[in-house]
Amino acid sequence: MKPQKKTLIKNSILITVDAEDTIYQRGWILLEGERIADLGEGDPAPELKADEVVDASGMAVLPGIVDVHTHVCGSLFKAMTEDPVGAFYGLALPMEKLLTPEYTYVLSMLGAIECLKAGVTCINDVYHYMRSTARAIDELGMRGVLAQKIIETDLATIQFNDYTRIPEEGRARVEENCRLIEEYHGRDGRIFCKFGPHATDTVSVELAKRIKELGDFYHVGFHTHVAQKTNEVEFLKETYGLTPVEYLCETGLMGEDLVAAHCVYTTDHDLALIEKGGATIAHCAEMTGKRGQFPALDKIYKSGIRMAYGTDWVTMDPWTNMRISIIVARMSGCSVECPDAHEALRRSTIIAAKALGLDDRIGSLEKGKQADIVLMDMQSANLTPVFDDPVATLVYNANRHDVDSVWVAGKPLVRGRKLLCADEAEILRDGQQIAGRIYESYRGRSA
Ligand SMILES: [Zn+2]
Repeated sequence: MKPQKKTLIKNSILITVDAEDTIYQRGWILLEGERIADLGEGDPAPELKADEVVDASGMAVLPGIVDVHTHVCGSLFKAMTEDPVGAFYGLALPMEKLLTPEYTYVLSMLGAIECLKAGVTCINDVYHYMRSTARAIDELGMRGVLAQKIIETDLATIQFNDYTRIPEEGRARVEENCRLIEEYHGRDGRIFCKFGPHATDTVSVELAKRIKELGDFYHVGFHTHVAQKTNEVEFLKETYGLTPVEYLCETGLMGEDLVAAHCVYTTDHDLALIEKGGATIAHCAEMTGKRGQFPALDKIYKSGIRMAYGTDWVTMDPWTNMRISIIVARMSGCSVECPDAHEALRRSTIIAAKALGLDDRIGSLEKGKQADIVLMDMQSANLTPVFDDPVATLVYNANRHDVDSVWVAGKPLVRGRKLLCADEAEILRDGQQIAGRIYESYRGRSA
């Protein structure tokens, strides 16, 4: 086997997020090929030789952030849906209908580099034309768990509570999800796939059962939206006599390999079912906060339910999201210990990795794991001074612009705040152009 490149990063604060939450105030980490070969405190042994040595004095090294719920292509909707009343169902979902595979690719590049430059090394994404997003993630060298958005209703009409089923749409999207899995699942050990039934109200019980069978056939899990709005809860009650969480149990989608985004409108019985079923709640505090809606956080944090953090879409900054997650928890009656800064970071790294079944590969800095690494520049007024808990310093003060470098699978994708894996200026220009074209065409249609 040909020798692999060794990169030594030294003189940095090392935040491992391992089981003991080990932090070295001055440590080193050795990357060899795509893996972490070794790490430790102080200086590495003098005989340790590397092809590249990075003096990371004044920086902190952390595991790459794992964002457990994203739609990177949804960067399209920045500043469009936050303020206007009902804009998510009235504007964003109808506008999604104007996407094409090529538009989705361009906008996915835009959203993906937003994530990457903020320190996110792995996304869990579900959207239209997912093979276009997969192409973007693959080209950038990022890590991702990807699912095709399966719907069998018209997203433009659910704002009017019109849930007329379109079975051929559902079948076509299931087939597309199968193609995605066949083409991308396991690619380079970086890209994995799931099935993506969009939500409990936009996929019938019958189709969801079929998706469950196919998930078992391909040995992949599921990613969906659950109990994110009151219409959804009412529709399911009237149609099936089920809550959204009961729908998950009824269809078989409930299980350890399910990531259920939001779970805002849940009963105590629903939460007990999630805990028993082992699914992960993807909590997107910044996004749901914009809608003024939160799940029963005090109950969830106290329960044995696995909950990890996601940013969802539009604004994908894991640092503000961690902070907002803590703030809304405390505003919802949670104690200051639960969650604290360390827990917020764990829910954005190792717990998120576990939710995706990838905790043996990523989510913490440990020997043998994949070298998904973030270097935070601590030499700024917002991160000075640092005392003995750099995690608290970062979680309460860092922002995405403090991210200096990012490695995924040992490959440097961002160095010195510059994107190495693609032409950033070109992505911004194309993103603006395509977004403008979609918006013009939407306005033309709705005029
Ligand atoms: Zn979402």
